[in-house]
Amino acid sequence: VVLPRNTEEVAAVISLAQQEGIPVVPRGAGTGVAGGAVPVSGGIVLDLSAMARIVRIDPDELMAVVEPGVVWAELNRALDSHRLFAPSVPGSGRVSTVGGAVATGGSGMRSLKYGTVREQVRRLVAVLPDGQTVGLGELAPKSACGYSLKDLFVGSEGTLGVITEVALRVWPKPPATLLVEAELRRLEEAPAILHRLRQEGLVPSAFELIPLATLQAVGESLEGGEGRLLTEFQGSPAEVEGAEATILPLLANRRTQVWRTEPEQARRWQRYGEIYFRLVRLKPAPLAEDLGVPVGAVPRLLDQAGRLSQALNLPAGLISHAGDGTVHCVIPADRRDPEEWRKAQHLREELYRLALELGGTITAEHGLGAVRSPFARRQLGPALDLMRRIKQALDPKCIMNPGKLRLEE
Ligand SMILES: Cc1cc2nc3c(=O)[nH]c(=O)nc-3n(C[C@H](O)[C@H](O)[C@H](O)COP(=O)(O)OP(=O)(O)OC[C@H]3O[C@@H](n4cnc5c(N)ncnc54)[C@H](O)[C@@H]3O)c2cc1C
Repeated sequence: VVLPRNTEEVAAVISLAQQEGIPVVPRGAGTGVAGGAVPVSGGIVLDLSAMARIVRIDPDELMAVVEPGVVWAELNRALDSHRLFAPSVPGSGRVSTVGGAVATGGSGMRSLKYGTVREQVRRLVAVLPDGQTVGLGELAPKSACGYSLKDLFVGSEGTLGVITEVALRVWPKPPATLLVEAELRRLEEAPAILHRLRQEGLVPSAFELIPLATLQAVGESLEGGEGRLLTEFQGSPAEVEGAEATILPLLANRRTQVWRTEPEQARRWQRYGEIYFRLVRLKPAPLAEDLGVPVGAVPRLLDQAGRLSQALNLPAGLISHAGDGTVHCVIPADRRDPEEWRKAQHLREELYRLALELGGTITAEHGLGAVRSPFARRQLGPALDLMRRIKQALDPKCIMNPGKLRLEE
């Protein structure tokens, strides 16, 4: 395990690894759930947690330049004094790093309004597998200069090089926020509500849908309707008032609750965040899937995932960032029970099939890493060969994070 302190030290380690043909596995905080930072072929684990400097915050340009080991919560603490924030923080942002999220192409539940991490990266510095350091992208908000190579590195999961600096777009803290919860009789009401909001010129900052069965599985004593919808709006006080005046009539005749103050909202989001942790604790070795489908197909995916998992007697916990098509599916499983483990694997494959049939993806947030790489071909088809040609061009000896993304046969 090597802990570099700066880009030059990263370059020195990579050059040596290149010379000796040693695998290098970059690691942020190790919170990834696809095994991306696991050294499956041995070699050097390049732990970037000591490169955790916030290089600068530029409020006028709405930009923060950071080293990859900066933890999201630290970045948001630093931005807060400038009345700024980084909205794309993953659910693990209390401990996970900016570099990890850029490398996995991650996102948070507010990407509906603000975009994913990919959309926030303006420029990055990377050390390539041959030890060369390159700056990719520009600080200018727009550029039309050739291939978008920074985007090649976003989501590359450490297979093309090491990200050693990131210039991120950040946002002014919204002066007002509104949170509305509603009971939905049918899950399929959610896309229709979102569509109406958009027609009224409103983009929620979060739009979260949870089936009732999942809430009951984690011990919430709730009855009525197929699910609960949490909608958040952020903006100026006038915008948020307008949003309230629009959404409440849309939710008429449904049980609703409105939270207007920050402490109330924080408590509600905290309770919401705990659902995932309670789901993953139901069994010792759950499979945590993060499917993505077009927004209109979310209710169908939730419904069919629920049915398939019930039929196998492995009731899946389902949480959806319904506004951006992400469906988290926690399959409760105990690996010590071979039959249950086999059923869990089968269910996972069925869910992948379903997501792809619906025009979606087997991973909306977490990446392929090691655990999903066997399924890369199924989604990517011939595009996987193009990825391999890129990998071959940059890393012919395949020293960078081998065994991930199915880049080698
Ligand atoms: C409770 C929980 C909630 C989560 N919620 C979300 C969520 O809402 N959204 C989401 O997207 N993910 C989520 N995740 C998954 C995970 O936290 C994210 O993928 C996170 O961004 C990984 O960051 P990390 O610092 O832990 O990276 P690691 O796990 O250490 O690494 C992840 C991958 O990135 C590569 N990598 C890391 N740093 C670099 C670098 N500097 N250069 C090149 N490659 C690098 C690694 O090799 C590996 O392939 C969640 C995980 C948990 C446990």
